[in-house]
Amino acid sequence: MSPTSATPSAPSPAVDHGPTRHLGAMDYSVLQQCMHCGMCLPTCPTYVETKKERHSPRGRIALMRAVADGELAVSKAFGEEMYYCLGCLACTTACPAGVDYPTLFEAARAEVEDAKVLDSPKRNAIRATVLRGLFTRPRLLRLVGRLLWIWQASGGQTLFRRLRLTRLLPPNLRRLEPQTPTIRARFSHQLIQPVESSANPKPLRRVAVLTGCVQDLAFSEINRATVDVLRANGCEVHTPPVQPCCGSLHGHNGDLATARDLARRQIDLIDPDRFDAIISNAGGCGSHLRNYDHLLAADDAYAAKAATWSRKLRDIHEYLVEINFRAPLAPPSPQTITYHESCHLCHGQKVSVQPRDILRAIPGVELRECGESSWCCGSAGIYNITQPKTSGWLQDRKLDLLTATGADIVATANPGCHLQIANGLQAQGDDHTTVEHPIVLLARAYAAEAND
Ligand code: SF4
Ligand code: SF4
Repeated sequence: MSPTSATPSAPSPAVDHGPTRHLGAMDYSVLQQCMHCGMCLPTCPTYVETKKERHSPRGRIALMRAVADGELAVSKAFGEEMYYCLGCLACTTACPAGVDYPTLFEAARAEVEDAKVLDSPKRNAIRATVLRGLFTRPRLLRLVGRLLWIWQASGGQTLFRRLRLTRLLPPNLRRLEPQTPTIRARFSHQLIQPVESSANPKPLRRVAVLTGCVQDLAFSEINRATVDVLRANGCEVHTPPVQPCCGSLHGHNGDLATARDLARRQIDLIDPDRFDAIISNAGGCGSHLRNYDHLLAADDAYAAKAATWSRKLRDIHEYLVEINFRAPLAPPSPQTITYHESCHLCHGQKVSVQPRDILRAIPGVELRECGESSWCCGSAGIYNITQPKTSGWLQDRKLDLLTATGADIVATANPGCHLQIANGLQAQGDDHTTVEHPIVLLARAYAAEAND
């Protein structure tokens, strides 16, 4: 949550600030991994945008190491640089040295928050209300979602826009208002039973499904589809009706204490020992969820469970391919589809081939590859709020490439990407191309098969 959308200026050096709590305390070998080869540079959106070394992975790692060594102060400029990074993890795929950028990135942002160098009354209030107030309380989040749904379903939002009352909003909110997600009439717990049996008389596996927070309110049909495809593939599916946020927003925004607290709550709710797999269907959440073992490694009470959790955590596409999912037999219904890779699904979880395998297995699908399919769309958590300029540049770049494929459907597996692309298409007046989760398309094919 950087207060600015401008490109950050260079951090000024300082001397001997002593060991810092996060970067200074980490295993030094992680800070030393970078061999400065520069292979990551052409894959880093912020470097490509500015061509400045400090806006590259290599440059940021050098800054982090200088902070850990006590040679650089955790200053406002350092903080802005860390928040200028998208956290897209494209650098981790490109890096031949296996640099653990996710750990460095989270530690650096935690350092910035501890040093309070970006604090302002407005920023602190937003973080307290949204991150710690709303996204830690699933029932309250649903209540807010329900109120928003009433506002939208009653026509209030349409009237507000028609009367151009959005002009009365402060500039930041005015810019964000068109991006408000459409809230579903029914949330996940209203669509999914806590336990649903397998379509096979004898379930082959028992799995738990994570419903997420934004996904629960704005894309509950994706959660329903996830349960449907798992049932169709021999799984007994357990879906706790009230689930806390996975903590990914908190971890990526330097609030590691809350991220750990939310991880413990997830493990208390879904005991990993009881399941063959724990299924995530959102790229960003999954990338964080499979990292619970690192997050809770120093917690004696939870470390062992967290290790089991991470071992069993699977992205839905990955899991379906792993269990040799059944290709649907529906009559072919021609669909041209292109696939946009969520950064945290492909770079964070290394799940890239499996969603394509699933799409290709659907009868009638023509999969058209999109250039730069694994480049960030600019959503990146709340990056489109904090850095609108860079986010908008990435969104335009992405939309041009997606549109060039001529596909009718853009498939993607993360709520942030879904909204960013759908909002971009709408802003361009494209009412033809739709955005869908690959699992919704698969579930539809199974349903068509059943109706045939
Ligand atoms: S996470 Fe993305 S934006 Fe950040 S340094 Fe790596 S490639 Fe660049
Ligand atoms: S590719 Fe890896 S080792 Fe090379 S400069 Fe980038 S982060 Fe460092």
